[in-house]
Amino acid sequence: MRPPRPAEDDRPVLVLGPNPTPNGGMHLGHIAGPYLAGDVYARYQRARGRKVVFSTGTDDSQTFVVASARRLGVEPDELCRTSTELIREALTAIGISFDGFGPFDETYQATVQDYFRALHAAGKFRLRTVRMPYLERTGEFLVEGLVEGECPVCLATCRGGLCETCCHPNNFDELLNPRSTVDPSDIPTVRETTILVLPMEEYREQLTAYHEQWSSYWRPHLVQMVRDVLSRPLQDLPITYPLAWGMPAPFPETPGQVLNAWLELIPAGMYTSSYAAAQLGRRTTPGQLWLPEEDTRIVHFLGFDNAYFFALAHMALLMAHGQKYLRPEWVLTNEFYELESEKFSTSKRHVLSVQELLAELPRDPARLYLALTAPEYQRTTFSRTGLDKVTRERLVEPWNRLAEILGKFAANGADTVLPVSDTGRKRAATMLERFDFHYEMPNYSLNRCADLILTQIGRLGRLAESLEGRGPDCEPAAWGDLILQVRALLALSAPILIDLADTARQAGGFTGVLAPGAFEMDEVTAFAPPLLSLTASGG
Ligand SMILES: [Zn+2]
Repeated sequence: MRPPRPAEDDRPVLVLGPNPTPNGGMHLGHIAGPYLAGDVYARYQRARGRKVVFSTGTDDSQTFVVASARRLGVEPDELCRTSTELIREALTAIGISFDGFGPFDETYQATVQDYFRALHAAGKFRLRTVRMPYLERTGEFLVEGLVEGECPVCLATCRGGLCETCCHPNNFDELLNPRSTVDPSDIPTVRETTILVLPMEEYREQLTAYHEQWSSYWRPHLVQMVRDVLSRPLQDLPITYPLAWGMPAPFPETPGQVLNAWLELIPAGMYTSSYAAAQLGRRTTPGQLWLPEEDTRIVHFLGFDNAYFFALAHMALLMAHGQKYLRPEWVLTNEFYELESEKFSTSKRHVLSVQELLAELPRDPARLYLALTAPEYQRTTFSRTGLDKVTRERLVEPWNRLAEILGKFAANGADTVLPVSDTGRKRAATMLERFDFHYEMPNYSLNRCADLILTQIGRLGRLAESLEGRGPDCEPAAWGDLILQVRALLALSAPILIDLADTARQAGGFTGVLAPGAFEMDEVTAFAPPLLSLTASGG
């Protein structure tokens, strides 16, 4: 099957951002990655008149919570609570339009456990005795966020379970030179333990077929990683771990063990999408929106560092469920975002939180800059100088100049209804087509959309300056053509410049659905577009 052309694909859309780990707040690296990408995509799909459910929620079961809590000297539960508040505050502040942020509650836990219980009952898991790093002093096994060492595939420093550099799994005792992340001088021994695993090798054929179907539409780094993983023996996927933190694994063979927290994320997505749908007025049981009869397109936005789980492990688990659930169609990855060409690091205090940035700058220019520099294909960096230059010289100043010319024109002939020429309609249609190309799969790109906005502001600004001073009677169609295109630009930049669009909408700047033909009108009314600012209101 070839993916349908999105322009003709009006199926409902489930958009998922990765579940943020509540072991701290949110910095700009998180936002410039999957959250802004998911938000802009969801906003555009809504503007196209499609049913959208955009959801996330925290993944409190991760060992990263425990490791961070120990380093901070607080209880993990307390860290989850305070971090979840900071995360929700940051997402709201920057305008990430989740329809629902699923709380980590009993329904979450029941959904996750039912998802694994069904696979267990169907005999999909195997018991394996494996060797894992063990701290004699504390009597605990070290996995994932609790252990650090060198990746056996690329030799970069990484955590247990997955290398965030090459994105290959490292399971059990494969990590080289393992040490505790809480106290690196705590050198573990190795002990045997018996856990449940999913034999990934049994899904090789299905995984290969799935990736052959989609690989020409995914970003190259993801495709390369998947090919690399599939070119080697597929490692058993740990389903349970002998840990004290996490969700209890409901299986008799592994008493006292917990579920591998990374693997919660698909049932968590089923839970959060159902939670979000309820916020929109549709009550469903968790998982219902993922059934084939819902005929939904599922779009996942995530960082490359987690891509092994989303593109392989989670897919194998969905395949183990047979044909019961839909599989994500689009898995869109991003690379790391840096701060002044250096990795964001909470421990080194090299971070810029969303809240800190928005204390200085309104969110529209912030979103535009993050979209323009988002790390879609390679590492990119947030630069203060770059932010100042781009937002002032390419966004705010030229937009405000354009808005002022139109404002003056509107003030001189209030409610002037102007004719639009065929050329004006064609230009607006070209804008719609170009934006649509980059707001849609497979060419979805925040970078391209942000650049299109800036390019069109520049072009329409020059057009406005050429008409400035000539009244409405002089060349009414020229003014009409310009105003139609400015309306088109406001509508098309609305997924990124959200506050500008809201203000313009209230002022009658544009209405309706962004379907093809949206700007095929014979006349427009003059209006004063709102201005942009570089000064944060309220500090
Ligand atoms: Zn590696």
